[in-house]
Parts: sequence; C-alpha cells; structure tokens
Amino acid sequence: MPKKRTALGARGEPSVKLSTRGAARLQARHPWVYRSDIEGIEANSIPPGSVVRVFDSRGKFLGTALYSSSSQIAIRMISHGSVADLPALVAERIRAAIAFRKELVANTNAYRVVFSEADFLPGLIVDRYNDVISLQILTQAIDAAPVRAAIVKTLREDLQPAGIVAGIVERVDGRIRELEQLPPRQSGLLWGEKSATVIEMNGSEINNIRFHYDGLEGQKTGAFLDQRENYAAAAQYAHGEALDVFCYQGGFALHLAAKCSSVTGVDSSRPALEVAEKNAALNGRELEWIEGNAFDLLREYAAADRRYDTVVLDPPPFAKTKRDLDKALRGYKELNLRALKMLRPGGILVTCSCSFHVGAKDFLEVVADAARDAHKDLRVVDNRGAAKDHPILLNVPETSYLKCLILSVSN
Ligand code: SAH
Repeated sequence: MPKKRTALGARGEPSVKLSTRGAARLQARHPWVYRSDIEGIEANSIPPGSVVRVFDSRGKFLGTALYSSSSQIAIRMISHGSVADLPALVAERIRAAIAFRKELVANTNAYRVVFSEADFLPGLIVDRYNDVISLQILTQAIDAAPVRAAIVKTLREDLQPAGIVAGIVERVDGRIRELEQLPPRQSGLLWGEKSATVIEMNGSEINNIRFHYDGLEGQKTGAFLDQRENYAAAAQYAHGEALDVFCYQGGFALHLAAKCSSVTGVDSSRPALEVAEKNAALNGRELEWIEGNAFDLLREYAAADRRYDTVVLDPPPFAKTKRDLDKALRGYKELNLRALKMLRPGGILVTCSCSFHVGAKDFLEVVADAARDAHKDLRVVDNRGAAKDHPILLNVPETSYLKCLILSVSN
C-alpha cells in the first residue's frame, strides 16, 4: 500500500487496538483485520464507516483503516500513515488507478478502472464501458456522501479523453448492503443521463469485437471484463467447429467466430442469449445460441457422439465458500471430462474457473484428472488469469480468482 506522507492526521479520530494476531496480519501486508482480532471495548463505540487509527497491543501506530460496524472484516487498511481527509485520499487513489491503467490497457474502451483492495480502495469497484461508468460500493466508509461525491467528481474529471463520461451508474448489491447494515438503495444513474452504450475490444488482433452494454441490466457489473484478454488468447488457437459453454452475452463466442467455421453458444439465461444475439448482429455474425442447462446438454451431446474442435467452459463460480470446495471440484471434473470426450484430436479446450476457493493448482489437478479419465494427453498452450486491469495484489490472495487454461488435445 503506498505510504501517505501527510504529516498530520486528525487526532479526533477513533482508534482501535489489535491483538498480536491482528497486527501480524497487517505485518503480512494483508489489509483486513477480523473483529475477533480487535482488543478492548472501544470497537463497539465506533460509528459505522469511521476512519480509524490502528495500534498494536503495545500502542505502536500501524496506520489508518476503514471501519465496518457489521462486517466480520472490521477494518480494512487504507494507509500506513495518517489520513486527514478521506474523500481527498480516495480521489488521489482513483487518479493513481487511472494512471496505472494507462500502462496496462490497450485495444479496448472497456476495462476495470478501480479494483478494490488491489487499487488500495477497499470496497470500491469501478468499470469503464466506453462513455458509461459502472461502479459498486461495498463498504460503509465508501458509502458516505462526501466519499461518493469525490468518486463521481474524480471519474468525471480524470478519465481520458476529457469529457468522455456521459453517465455514471451505480450497481447495487442488495445482499452486501444488508450485510454492511447500509440503507437499501436502487441501482441507477449517479450522474449524467446515459446508462447504455456500445463497447469494443481486442482491436488489433481480430478486428474490434463490439458488444452492447446496459449498465442497468445483466450480471456482475454487466460484462465479464476480466476475460477480455482471454477472449483474444482463445481466438488465437481456436479453429473448426466451436462450442462456447456458459456463453452469457457471447464474449468468447464472438471472438471465436473470426477463426472458426461454426460457433454455438450455450447458456441457461434467456436474457443473456437475447443480448448475445444482438451482439452477433452488431458484429455482422450469425451464430447459434442454445438455451439450456450446460450439464444436461453436454451429457446429451456426448451420448450422441457430437464432436468439436474448440470448446470453451466458463461456468459461474461453483465454490462460493470453502465448504463448497469438494462439490465444486466434482462439477469442474464432470464438465471438463465431458468436453474432452467431445474434442477431436488437435482440438482446443479453453477452461476457466472464477471460484476464488479453487486455487490455480487445484484447478490444474482437476483438469489433469479429467484428462486421465478421458484417456487424452493435454498440453498447456497458455496458463492465464484475469486481464491486467484486474491486478493481483501479492499477499492478498482474494485479488486472484480467475483461472483460464488453454489446452491442446493430442489424441
Ligand atoms: N463466458 C461469459 C461469462 C460466463 S458467466 C463471458 O465471457 O461473458 C456464467 C454464465 O453461466 C452465466 O451467463 C449464467 O447464466 C450461466 N449459467 C449458470 N448456470 C448454468 C447452467 N447450469 N447451464 C448453462 N448456463 C449456466
């Protein structure tokens, strides 16, 4: 976390004292401390969303954090120094995140601008979709009115090219607001009038793929920007007849279309497929979309001896908690096994997992296990993660969640 060199902090701020274990967590450079690692009764008297000064059990100052009165993650560090003005610090961090993206992002007008802890802004996610900005606020401190005002102003003024922002949409996760004991809110425009637009990506490689974006519809913040670079990587190796399983609005499918003789997308969500169809039209393509349960469909296709040259698997997170791990691994194994059985020799399997609880090693093992059961030899062509605008902060494993393996089937 960058050190803040403000000489003076406001001395009236509440303070918390950490247990040895809590202090050790900060020493390990993880920004979260759990409520059980806060000592003394002071913590109960701290107003929700406060900026707090953090001390170890011997009274040594460790830095400044954002406090949540309801989350088990009671504090999230925001600076190793003092913080006199939170809205000003948030604005400064957003400007730094924008500058960082200039080095990382190319060939797209849609990318993640702020990725919470990985941009030293715990509880704030900002995505840019061409001229529409979509943001999510996940913590009490970031929800405060002066902080919200600073976020909107900085995004309007600092995103380039100047004047590009035509609308800023907030996407509300009702469950998170409830957990944070924040008053309910509706998703909607925070600024400007525009909430829907057209984005483009992967320009130099495959001729600019375009997508509709509607900030007030869809899942997550609306599109799966973390897969953006993986779309282009998959297209590099894709060929022949392709099947995009869990295709959502056609992210992989439309990229594969440039390289494959036919592409079929499968998803259980009709609204997602309706957008996929519109996206195909936007790119002058005609693809086949099938609404159905991927597990059933793969079983049917395998039984009917259907064969493909390229298969993409990008399921929703199977393991939402650690307890789901075994079940999740069984789900990944089944999907990958079925896909491998359908792939022709020389075929390409693009297989993804966005479950944080399934580690990169677990995922490789489960795909290897599926390969053994399918009696196939696989070579790893590319072992990938999320696009670079979703940076991984070392020592904060939660910032690393997406796995994308591109494999070549030898026999
Ligand atoms: N590949 C997509 C993102 C996929 S997200 C992209 O790059 O944009 C996961 C998708 O799986 C969602 O669209 C969801 O509707 C779909 N889904 C969830 N369970 C499913 C199931 N059992 N069968 C088919 N699709 C499913």
